[in-house]
Amino acid sequence: MGRIVGIDLGTTNAVVAVLEAGRPLVVANAEGSRTTPSVVGYTKDSELLVGQLARRQLVLNPRNTFANLKRFVGRVWDELEDSSLAVPYTVRANAEGNVRIPCPVTEREYAPEELVASIIRKLVDDAATYLGEPVDAAVVTVPAYFNDSQRQATRDAGRLAGINVERILNEPTAAALAYGFDRTSARRVLVFDLGGGTFDVSLMRIANGVFDVKATSGDTQLGGNDFDQRIVDWLAEAFKRENSIDLRRDRQALQRLTEAAEKAKQELSGVQSTPLSLPFIATGPDGPLHIETTLDRSTFEGLCPDLLDRLMTPVQSALRDSGWSAEDVDDVVLVGGSTRMPMVQQLLRTLIPRDPCQSVNPDEVVAVGAAIQAGILTGELRDLMLNDVTPLSLGLETVGGLMKVLIPRNSPIPVRQSDVFSTSQANQASVDIHVWQGERQLAADNKSLGRFRLSGIPPAPRGVPQVQVAFDIDANGLLQVSATDRTTGRKQSVNIQGGSNLNEEEIKALLAEAEAKADEDRRRRASIDRRNSALTLVAQAERRLRDAALELGPYGAERQQRAVEMAMRDVQDLLEQNDLQELELGVASLQEALFGLNRRLSSERRTDASPLQGIRNTLGSLKDELFSDEDWDDDPWESPSRLSDSRPNMRRRDMNSWDDDFYR
Ligand code: ADP
Ligand code: MG
Repeated sequence: MGRIVGIDLGTTNAVVAVLEAGRPLVVANAEGSRTTPSVVGYTKDSELLVGQLARRQLVLNPRNTFANLKRFVGRVWDELEDSSLAVPYTVRANAEGNVRIPCPVTEREYAPEELVASIIRKLVDDAATYLGEPVDAAVVTVPAYFNDSQRQATRDAGRLAGINVERILNEPTAAALAYGFDRTSARRVLVFDLGGGTFDVSLMRIANGVFDVKATSGDTQLGGNDFDQRIVDWLAEAFKRENSIDLRRDRQALQRLTEAAEKAKQELSGVQSTPLSLPFIATGPDGPLHIETTLDRSTFEGLCPDLLDRLMTPVQSALRDSGWSAEDVDDVVLVGGSTRMPMVQQLLRTLIPRDPCQSVNPDEVVAVGAAIQAGILTGELRDLMLNDVTPLSLGLETVGGLMKVLIPRNSPIPVRQSDVFSTSQANQASVDIHVWQGERQLAADNKSLGRFRLSGIPPAPRGVPQVQVAFDIDANGLLQVSATDRTTGRKQSVNIQGGSNLNEEEIKALLAEAEAKADEDRRRRASIDRRNSALTLVAQAERRLRDAALELGPYGAERQQRAVEMAMRDVQDLLEQNDLQELELGVASLQEALFGLNRRLSSERRTDASPLQGIRNTLGSLKDELFSDEDWDDDPWESPSRLSDSRPNMRRRDMNSWDDDFYR
């Protein structure tokens, strides 16, 4: 098995980690950061941006920049709360009721999974660059509380990114893996993960490398964003009262408000009060309008009591399901940026009388756990065992619309469970199997995962045919359902497909498109690269010819000089004709010619220790002065005699002072 990386695909930030010599390690992205904003955008030229670059254009290009995508992954339009839809880009339902995100500049509609795939692609590319080898598989984490559709959709995103998702791992479980990796003593651990858009709680027992998840709970629609939103509303309402303008209706203003709100929220984790300044946020009848105010921590906390309440319920229900009391918990592990809020930590202390453990990095611990899981899968890490659970009950709809649970929540996975059902009418020839996930008694109040029909049941009085329905949950938490008519042996089985997933044809079409586009992109990039390196080489050749003329005189190394000149002209011509095939050959001969000239130059210098050399060196530095407008660069052929110390330093200093005076 090849390399598998671990990916924490957060609502706000994504992180990728790898295993190096048995130790997990977070990989910095191409921009040098260890976390990558989960933002995807298109520039006005339809160029795809991912991460920090996309995040940077959130305010200026709000319709074509997509953040918080995870809230839409694997969900159908009807399930979305209004708060999820309060994003500056457009979100709509397609004819099937699936979520689609139109992008004006590319004039295309995307499924959320498709955009998320670009984030995965970037992380994988960054990891491959770091490792120096291709990466084609990953362990991807999801909130423990993700339902089957959301998990399927995450896996689809991986497929669209061109990688194999070897395992879907629950985020809190990943955090516990990272936390318990080096510990031997038996501990009961509560993982409390509050990120940007989701909230997860898991209780587990860790002993000697065995990780037993006892219970899990959470809220996939609660996170730091909701706290930001409270500040946005607070600002916008005040502004509306004063100016009768609702800033939330202006995309750009909304984005600026959101950014300012998030910044203020983060600052309030450290200080008691913070200024909020948003100049030129709108235009009124008398000219531009501004926001200048301060927010203090107690006011902020007063805006969020119901959000805090929503944090309590899952902790209590996980405790109940595990059969543990609050005092049984040995360690509290905080995960996710939003656990830095003092009110959140305070609330948690009222539930579990323990100081949270400070030894893990809340931003990186999930990705680290994913890399450890990858190591378990490849066999690189032994003596570690993970026993996870399914977060939500799974069942069938029976007569009267009732939910008949086959696999209760918090059952250890993988698991297989079956039950026998019958017909409700005489001579019923088929039965509808409708699969649901959730805790409510009425099936319709839960999440529908899909339905299928088992037909060809021979005529019989009601209640006589026996249909065996089996549920299989694999280690990813993904469900497969099969139904067998016991009399005929007729069997039907399906991978449950959630409503908002792309269907198989759509995925295949997208993959084909991506492949075609990747080829085109690669070709385009290759041709640009080739032209650029040819241009660089020509510039190098020109410099080298000048060097040779100065050091050896115009005819000092005539053969080599002529060869370089000719090869250089060839390359220049080919560049003009844009003949890339020939260009490659031309570049090779120019390189060869330059090599000859360089060798000649350096042998001249080595053998020639005569007094003339001194004059030549003087000439060399004189020439440096003469050509002081030429670019200096990291020319590999740079000869020691040309590296006069003073010139580049002087110029660098000059440039800096110029910058200082006019540009800072
Ligand atoms: P996710 O897992 O959803 O990507 P993260 O764990 O990266 O999320 O957390 C992101 C959230 O944490 C954001 O809402 C961000 O505003 C919030 N956050 C980060 N630092 C702080 C802080 N110092 N105080 C409060 N919230 C913070
Ligand atoms: Mg997270």
